[in-house]
Formats: sequence, C-alpha cells, structure tokens
Amino acid sequence: MALLHCGNLTLEGKSSSAVATYIRVKELDLVFDLGRCPMHFIGTNHVFISHFHLDHYFGLPIYISQRWLSDIPPGNIYVPSSGFRQLTHILDMLSALDMGRRWVYRVTPVHVGDALRFRQNLIAHILPGNHSVPAVSYLICEVRKKLKPEFHELQGHEIAALRQSGTEVTTEVQLPLIAYLGDTRGIPLDVHPLLKQCQVLICECTFVLPEHRARAKKTMHLHLDMLLPMLDELESEHVVLTHFSRRYTPELIRQKVFSRLPEKERARVKLFL
Ligand SMILES: [Zn+2]
Ligand SMILES: [Zn+2]
Repeated sequence: MALLHCGNLTLEGKSSSAVATYIRVKELDLVFDLGRCPMHFIGTNHVFISHFHLDHYFGLPIYISQRWLSDIPPGNIYVPSSGFRQLTHILDMLSALDMGRRWVYRVTPVHVGDALRFRQNLIAHILPGNHSVPAVSYLICEVRKKLKPEFHELQGHEIAALRQSGTEVTTEVQLPLIAYLGDTRGIPLDVHPLLKQCQVLICECTFVLPEHRARAKKTMHLHLDMLLPMLDELESEHVVLTHFSRRYTPELIRQKVFSRLPEKERARVKLFL
C-alpha cells in the first residue's frame, strides 16, 4: 500500500489503472474512491466516488457490510447522481443475497456545482469530470472564520461588545486543502477559482509512453504529454500523480516522469505508487 506525506495530510492506499483506486486522507476522515476496501478503511466516515468504473467503487459493498456487521453507523458515501439509482439497486440485491435483508447505508447523489458541508468545517465542491462515463471531481476546502475587514481596527472589547449586540463580526473564508480529479482527460482549472490553489492536487497520469497517446485519447485519460504544460498554471504545494497503467513498472514510471519534469517541479510532483 502506498503512503505519501503531503504537508499535514497523509495519503494512503493504492491506485493502478483498471485494477483499483482507493486513497484515504486520514486527517480529513475521508477516502477518494473505493475500488477495494482494506479492513482498516472501514472506520473512515466519508467516501467520495468519482465515477462508476469497477476499479473505483467495487469496495463499497465490503465497506457497507463490514460497518453494518460491526455496529458502526452508516458512513457517508457520495456518488455521481447519474449512477445513484443503479448503485442502490445493486447494493440492495447484494445485501439480499448476502444477508437475506437490507444493509443500512447512506448514499448521497452529487451534482456538479454542489457544495456539501461535512465534518462541520469542511466543504466538498463537486466539479465536472471529463471521462468516458459520467464522472465528477472533488475539491475539499476548510472553512475558517475571519474578522470582517471593517472591524480590523477595533479593540478586543469593542469586538466583544458588537458580538453581544448581535452583530456578525466574522465572515467565512475557504482554504482549499485537497482536490481529487478521478479519471480525467484534463484538469478543469477554469471551473473553480480555488482549484489551482489547493495544497494537494491528486491527478491521474495513466499513460507515460509516446506510443500510448492514442490510447489515452480513446479511453479519456491523461497522458504525461498533456500534464507537463499544465503544471505552470498550478499553484499547489504537492501534485500527486496516480492511476498509472499496469503495463508500466514503477521504475519505468519514475524514469519517464522525472526525466521529463523541469528541475523546479521535481520537489512538488510525487508519484502514488
Ligand atoms: Zn480508473
Ligand atoms: Zn475510469
């Protein structure tokens, strides 16, 4: 299992094209995609599914049933709205087959443009995906309270008095923490102003060899050739590449990616292998 430290966030899991992708961020109590479900992911309370290719969601029945068997309340599973009905139908069929009764689970269909509040101080922005099936990307922001500019000059006791009189002295600001693009043919930087500023950007890079350019286009995946020019636009402290084709060995991936990265990018680009 891969383990990657990106500032104060730790990414843990696996990502291999067509095999399985599941990436846990323990500090945020969430998992991006659940192609398989390791037993120690069962207690994680938020699961964000990018699309319905098997390698991205097939761990859900284990996640749901193991929580159910362990008397853990249902986790919060977010899925693209387009497959919501089929997914819940499949889950109900599986639970009937497995237990003779229905598992209790909580699946929320998400739509592009939604902003879902979770864990009190986090928001998941739902961004469009660009893949061969309907897909979404997720941008997770932390919400912080900040004193409104008009009160910056005031003393502490004056602010306290305003608060007591019922005046709202703070406003909410969002700090972009991490984005997960799922399987995608591009990075949708223009769809949300905070995306390019997120501390950690998890981006697929399925193909790295020149002879796989056509395959990348056909299967709607990113090729290393496309990613390199986009790096200039990204302000992220960490750019994590995932979902490499299983045709490649880890050594080949490292060699191809780092031999083409400009010197200035080498410290922030990381491989989730
Ligand atoms: Zn995939
Ligand atoms: Zn896919």
